[in-house]
Amino acid sequence: MPSFYRNFTQFYGGINVASKVNCKVLETIAHDLLIAIGEDPHREGLKETPRRFASLWKEFIDYDPGNTETCFESVTTDQMVVISGMRVWSLCEHHLLPFWCDVSIGYIACDKVLGLSKFARIAHKYAHTLQLQERLCHQIADELTKIIGTNDVAVLASGHHLCMEMRGIRTPGLMTSSITRGIFRESSEARMEFMQLIGGTK
Ligand code: ZN
Repeated sequence: MPSFYRNFTQFYGGINVASKVNCKVLETIAHDLLIAIGEDPHREGLKETPRRFASLWKEFIDYDPGNTETCFESVTTDQMVVISGMRVWSLCEHHLLPFWCDVSIGYIACDKVLGLSKFARIAHKYAHTLQLQERLCHQIADELTKIIGTNDVAVLASGHHLCMEMRGIRTPGLMTSSITRGIFRESSEARMEFMQLIGGTK
């Protein structure tokens, strides 16, 4: 394990919490960043900024998705299940700027179906890290395949990226990426049904 990747045990609200995040270092970084951009870290509005900056990162990185693996017996087989419009926020790993995605998931239920809230938990779990939209889709698809035990999985994400909209080309744009596996890859009918059920290309 590289030396920069360590778990920090920190004292929060009277409880020791294992964390990947080193808040002390983050506060120093925020303080130094304010100086580097010509600000006075001691002026009234900025006094608490390093602490807020550290807690923002802690909240983002230490996100706990809870239980993602509750499955139920399926009553029917070969039924397409689609969950759409799950909005997640993530951070682009190239610029450390936010992006948000609306994630849609489809799968063919065989002998197991996943509890509805678990899809959102899985999507949030992989969004709460430095990320790329394409990789986010792959990781959600991999986790679903692992939990449900089927390769018949489709994931589609449409996202707005601040690294494109507020800097660089400064143009709003919707980026769409999709993963299709199993029946969704082999059958254009299955893909069409999935697209219809999620409401076009949203
Ligand atoms: Zn970016």
